[in-house]
Amino acid sequence: MRKAGIYIHIPFCLRKCPYCDFYSIAAGDGSLRSRFVKALIKEIETAGKKYGKNSDSPMTADTIYFGGGTPSLLEPEQIRAVLGAVRDSFALAKDAEISLECNPATADEEKLKDLRRAGVNRLSIGGQSFDDEVLKTLERLHSARDNIRTVELGRKAGFDNISLDLMFAIPGQTEEKWEETLKQALSLNPQHISFYSLEFMEGTPFTRRMEKGLITETDAEADRRMYERGLEILAEAGFSQYEISNAARGREYICRHNMKYWSLEEYLGFGPSAHSYVTGEQGRGLRFCNAADVAAYIEAMERGESAIEDFCQNSLKDDASEYVFTGLRKNRGIDLRDFRKKFRSGIWDFYGKDVKEEFEEFVRCGFADETENNIKLTVKGMNISNRIMALFV
Ligand code: SF4
Repeated sequence: MRKAGIYIHIPFCLRKCPYCDFYSIAAGDGSLRSRFVKALIKEIETAGKKYGKNSDSPMTADTIYFGGGTPSLLEPEQIRAVLGAVRDSFALAKDAEISLECNPATADEEKLKDLRRAGVNRLSIGGQSFDDEVLKTLERLHSARDNIRTVELGRKAGFDNISLDLMFAIPGQTEEKWEETLKQALSLNPQHISFYSLEFMEGTPFTRRMEKGLITETDAEADRRMYERGLEILAEAGFSQYEISNAARGREYICRHNMKYWSLEEYLGFGPSAHSYVTGEQGRGLRFCNAADVAAYIEAMERGESAIEDFCQNSLKDDASEYVFTGLRKNRGIDLRDFRKKFRSGIWDFYGKDVKEEFEEFVRCGFADETENNIKLTVKGMNISNRIMALFV
């Protein structure tokens, strides 16, 4: 059976956070959001004809992920309508994971209950920090108390799979504050935690402020210490790290949707700026993405046109690079037998002697592990993951 994930990008936020480079615009009026939802449904129905129930090679959706932006800004009935369009167009696995990102500034008891009733079964709460000073630095529109309330209300609404997103290495955040945030998050008993260090992305207000010397980036050593201390605290609490920035309380709580991105599995993205990856002719990947422009997206859908802006046919080498590059993000790394099956060659025959020797140098220095059937990064290696992954690009 051909399985795929479905990503749905909701491009609205209450206000733009100064560090964020995801595509979103300030919430706008309700009528823009209504037009957007109609456009989204149209895009899903159109894709359904090509990849869905009645196509030549139908995909069964086994994960759906509402990301953004701030999906919790939409009304639950809008989420229900979008899920209805997915169900009408695609077969949906019985145990499909249906995640929705929720900003604590937009959540209330009724909304969470309605989202649960609409079929959402995994809540990813963008708490970021449990320190009000740090939240103020990030210009988030919610407090630590709102984070706690949202987790509690989520649970009351029937969500038994709750993830918390946390950030570290934020200007002004001490290592103690980071520890406190993690401990506070763990005291709420979430099933999953994502933890990212703040990155200064090009073109964001934070980066401009840093360039003017108004805020200071956390130094690399402190960033690494926060990361490693975070992993220790999570492990002590019974969490298993399964990817560089993600840990779950048990295998059943690993985010199945995100795992697809790190395993070169198929997914369809809907909404402005959403990316897709599907297997095309000769088994090679096709990547395409929609333009990051809500107005253009809505107009294209209303005219019955596509919003795809970029389209890329992967070569065998592109697919292999993406498979290794993303696969090394996972704690379990890469099964070399799977690599051979997928690419009809052993990994070192594929990449050659020089890459093998360079990788083995990382192994000798304790940054990576290698056995007959597996390669992976160590915790130390995850700190310099980009350098190691770059060998395979
Ligand atoms: S709420 Fe999330 S998506 Fe929206 S601007 Fe802030 S960080 Fe970005």
